Amino acid sequence: MQRGPRKMYDVRHLGLTCADCGAPIEELPFIPKSDRPVYCQKCARNHRRQNPRILR
Ligand SMILES: [Zn+2]
Repeated sequence: MQRGPRKMYDVRHLGLTCADCGAPIEELPFIPKSDRPVYCQKCARNHRRQNPRILR
């Protein structure tokens, strides 16, 4: 099992914004794919609850 803080990737250099609320995204728990929308942590949580299939 993993312990400690979750690994976060610094994505500030990519200039990403949340596909939902438009907030600038500074870090993600995964490496973003260019063909997939990314969400801030708050929106990602909402999306996961609404559509579990987005979790891959
Ligand atoms: Zn958002």
